[in-house]
Amino acid sequence: MNSILSDRINQMEESATLAMAKKARELKSQGVDIISLSLGEPDFKTPKHIQEAAKAAIDEGKYFSYPPVAGYQDLREAIAKKLREVNHIAEAKAENIVLSTGAKHSIANVFMCLLNEGDEVVIFSPYWVSYSEIIKLAGGVPVLIEGSLENNFKATAAQLKDALTDKTKAIIYSSPCNPTGSVFSKEELQAIAEVVKEKDNLLVIADEIYELINFTGKHASMAAFPGMFDRTITVNGFSKGYAMTGWRVGYICAPLEIAKACEKMQGQFTSGGTGIAQRAALAGIEGDQSPSKEMEKAYLRRRDLVLDLLRDIPGIKTHVPEGAFYFFPEVSAFFGKSANGFTISDADDFCLYILKEAYVSLVTGAAFGAPDCVRLSYAASDEELKEALKRMKEALAKLS
Ligand code: PMP
Ligand code: GLU
Repeated sequence: MNSILSDRINQMEESATLAMAKKARELKSQGVDIISLSLGEPDFKTPKHIQEAAKAAIDEGKYFSYPPVAGYQDLREAIAKKLREVNHIAEAKAENIVLSTGAKHSIANVFMCLLNEGDEVVIFSPYWVSYSEIIKLAGGVPVLIEGSLENNFKATAAQLKDALTDKTKAIIYSSPCNPTGSVFSKEELQAIAEVVKEKDNLLVIADEIYELINFTGKHASMAAFPGMFDRTITVNGFSKGYAMTGWRVGYICAPLEIAKACEKMQGQFTSGGTGIAQRAALAGIEGDQSPSKEMEKAYLRRRDLVLDLLRDIPGIKTHVPEGAFYFFPEVSAFFGKSANGFTISDADDFCLYILKEAYVSLVTGAAFGAPDCVRLSYAASDEELKEALKRMKEALAKLS
C-alpha cells in the first residue's frame, strides 16, 4: 500500500540524538540503570535569576497574549547590543534580530527562506544531525566537506573553495562544534570569509549556539569580519549557555531582507515564541553572567576528567575538544570484533553494544557524517561520567 504520508516526511531521517535519548529514557523507565551520554543537554538547572524573571513575568500578567512574531522589541534590542558589544558585529540592530522557538527553529526558517530546489549548501562535517535533513526538506542539496581527527575535525577554507559550484547558495558550520567540540580560530574563520567573499551572493550560516562554552576564551563571529555582515546569518539561542533547553528560545541576526523573510515564514508557521520564555531570556542576556561562566568551568573540568578516562581505554582515539560538551572519539579499532555472540561492524553497532553491555547511551557518528566515530556528551555529573567510562572500558575489554 502506498504511504498515507508525504514523500517529504518519508524521506526524512529521524533525529538520531533525540531517538537515542528516547531509547535511553524508555530503558530507564523499565528500571535499567542507564547512564545517558547521548543527548546534548546541560545537566544544570536554569540560573535562579532567570527563573525568577519568568515568575515575575507571570505575576505581571502582561505576557499571556500573542507576542510580536519577531520577538519583543526590548529583547531584540538587548540581543543586538550584545552582538555589537561582545561579538563586535557593529551593524547589528534590533531589526536584524528574529526570535524563534529555538535555534533549530531558526535554522529551519532560514533554509526555508533561502533555498530553491537543487540549491547546494556546503556543510562543514562532522556536523549537527539536523542541518542535512532541514536542508533537504527545503529542497536543497547538502554538500559535505570533511575534517578528520588529524586536523581536529576542521574542514578548511581550501576544501570550501573546491566544493563551491554555480549552485552553492550557502555554507553552514557550528563553532564551538556539535559533535566534535572543535573551535574555529579567528584566522581559520577569516580564511573562510575570504573564500566566501570571492563568490557573489554566497551566504554563511554561522551556528554559534555553544558560544558560552568555549575553553579557548576566544569566540570569533563570522558576521564581525569586514564585508561579512550582509552575507551572514548568525544563529544563537539560550539553550546551551544558559541551560534553557526546555524554554525554547533561539534567534538569528540576519541582513534585513532575510530577517523579514524569516519573520514572514514564522508568521505562517508558529507565530512569535512564548512570551514568558522571552522575558526569562531577557534576564539571561541582561543579567548576571557568572552562572554561565561557572557552568563553562564545570564543563572544562569534566572535559579533562573524561579525556583521561578515554585515553585509558585501549583502541579509542580522541582529539581534545575545545568547547561545547562533546567528545567525538574514533572507534574503528573495534570494528570486526565480537563478544557474547555480537559482532561490531560499524559505529551504530558500537553504540548498540555499549548500550547493551555497559548500559551507557552514546550516538553513532554516522548521524553526524563520520561513520568511524561516536559522540559522547559529558553534560553529566562527575560520578556518572566516571561510572560510564568504567563500564565502557570493561565492556570493550571483552571484545576480541
Ligand atoms: N545547533 C546546534 C549545533 C545544536 O547542537 C543545537 C542543539 N539542539 C541546536 C542548534 C538547536 O538548539 P535549540 O533549538 O535548543 O536552541
Ligand atoms: N543539540 C542537542 C544534541 O545534539 C539536542 C538534541 C537535538 O536537538 O538534536 O543532542
